[in-house]
This record gives sequence, C-alpha cells and structure tokens, in this order.
Amino acid sequence: SGLLRPLPQHAEEDYEKALRPRRLEEFIGQPKIKDNLRVFITAALQRGETLDHVLLSGPPGLGKTTLAYIIAEEMGARIRTTSGPVLEKPADIAGLLTNLNEGDVLFIDEIHRLSPVVEEYLYSAMEDYRIDILIDSGPNARSVKLRLPPFTLIGATTRKGLLTAPLRARFGIEFRYDYYHTEDLQQIVLRSARILGVAIDEEGAYEIARRSRGTPRIANRLLRRTRDFAEVKGDGRITREVARMALEALDVDEAGLDEMDVRLLRTLIEKFGGGPTGLNTLAVAVGEDPGTLEEVYEPYLIQEGFLERTPRGRVATARAYQHFGLVPPARTGS
Ligand code: ADP
Repeated sequence: SGLLRPLPQHAEEDYEKALRPRRLEEFIGQPKIKDNLRVFITAALQRGETLDHVLLSGPPGLGKTTLAYIIAEEMGARIRTTSGPVLEKPADIAGLLTNLNEGDVLFIDEIHRLSPVVEEYLYSAMEDYRIDILIDSGPNARSVKLRLPPFTLIGATTRKGLLTAPLRARFGIEFRYDYYHTEDLQQIVLRSARILGVAIDEEGAYEIARRSRGTPRIANRLLRRTRDFAEVKGDGRITREVARMALEALDVDEAGLDEMDVRLLRTLIEKFGGGPTGLNTLAVAVGEDPGTLEEVYEPYLIQEGFLERTPRGRVATARAYQHFGLVPPARTGS
C-alpha cells in the first residue's frame, strides 16, 4: 500500500503541518513521554535555564518532529531544523551553531546519519557550548575557540542502534516512542477530521485507527483517502461502512500491515517454513537492510503477535499463518 512512502513534497508538508499539534496538551497518547517532558520543561523554565538535550527515537510517523516543535513552543524558543544527511562538512554545522541565539532549539532529524567529522564537532558544542573552528589555511592556519549561547539540541532517529556511544551520552533526556493504541489513534483521527472539516463518526474513526499500523502519519493519510471515497461514493460522511469500503478498495490490509510487513511474513512462511530464520538471511531475502527490519518493521509485528524473536532466529506465529489464510504447522518445542 506504500503508506509509509512520502506523498509529493508539497502536499505532504502542507497536510502534515495543518494537522500538527502545537502544544503539549494537544499531543495525544505517549503518556510517559508527555508526563516526563512536562516536568522537565516546567523545571527548566522555573530555573530560567535551557532544556537539556533531547533524543527522540522510534519508527517513522510517530510524532518525533511534532514533539520537537512542541518543545520549542513550550519553552518559548525559536527552532532551527536540519537533518543528518544534509550536514556534510564541519562548516555546515558550524554555520548553524554560530547563528543560534540563547535558548534556541536545534532539531536534527535522522541524527544517526551524521558524518563522523560533523558528529565530533557536535560533542563540545553539546557539552560546553563551545566549538573550535579552523581559520585560514597553510602556515597561517589556526584554530579559534568560539563560545556558543546555551541551546537545546533535539535529535530524532529511527535507528537508535546506529548512534555512537559518545553522541548518545551527551543527551540528558531520552524518549523512546511506542506504537499508538487504537483508542489514541481514534482521537487523532477525530481531531484531524475536525480541523479538516470532515464529517466522521466514532466508529468510522475507529475503523481507520485500527488499520493504521499504530502510526499517526498513516492514520492521517487514511483519513484523507477515506474522505475522497465518502465524497464520491457516499454523502460525504465517514461511517464504519464507508471506511471499510474505502480501505478495502485502497488495499489496506485488515490488520493495517504494509507491503514490507507482508513481504517479511510471507517470505518467512513460504521460503523458510516459518523459521527460525536469522535476521540477516531474512533481510537478504526481502531486500531490506537488517537494521531497518529490526528497528522499524519488526517491533510492530512482534507487538501485534505476528512474529517472535527467538535465540535461533525469527519465527512466524500461528497468528501470522491465520492472517494469510494458512494453516500453522504443528510445532514441537519453540
Ligand atoms: P516523525 O517525525 O516521527 O516521522 P511527525 O512528527 O512528522 O513524525 O508526525 C507525523 C504526522 O502525525 C504529523 O502530521 C503529526 O501531526 C501527526 N502526529 C504525530 N504524533 C501525533 C500525536 N501524538 N497527536 C496528534 N498528531 C500526531
């Protein structure tokens, strides 16, 4: 279904921006993150200090960028945004850092993709708000120490396992996202529908939520596509029946699994007799990077009971077989 794939850039950004909550109280779900963050923000504001550096990790579309903007808003700070792959040379990061004002938030998306030289530059910036820059070249080359104003770095990553230990150690606050509960996604769909002026009932919102792979970005996209259906094939109102019809026509899996989820499970079942199969073998067979499988795809399949990690490898569960209308093999032991 390609629901994790980006839409054309403009449509994508406008839609997501319009639906992005601005304040912490509008941010739905993830209660642990929200409660802790509220304490840290309040404490920092009371002391008149900047917030500690924050690392946000979890699969795409769960609200990392959204939270970075919310943190800046709640701190009354300005936000600068960039991403790991964009920062190629030390000069790229130096330029950003030297333009920060006191209290600013610097958001680096995909922070696991920083080049080593750029990353090393960040260490002293994060630790003591100081950088060494090299000016001139040849015999006149010298390094100059620059002081930076206190700022908050917010890093987001889908692949926490790729972060180096020294970088990770410099974040004072670390939050890991969980997939959203269906009830929370339902609230997100209802909120988005309100903002977009779409008529929807609770059951229609639940049906969309249930098939969104625990992910707000997917829920919002399914809402948009379902709305088209409701307008063309119905009276514009999204009910459970309309949602079911639309999602079926859009080939959205009954459990909300996406293309890669399905490929992974079917490969495990059809090529490897359901496993146990090692991660690397499975990765080669589905044509995806092992780390991405492990950190982006598997957590949802494990949470939903389609996949198990055992010491000998990945195993498809009885639920996975049943999902594809297959009979699970009789297992001994595992
Ligand atoms: P990420 O940076 O993790 O890939 P985003 O922050 O871009 O994800 O979120 C994707 C979309 O989902 C945005 O439109 C955002 O408004 C919405 N969203 C994410 N988390 C929430 C939430 N907790 N409540 C409401 N909407 C959310």
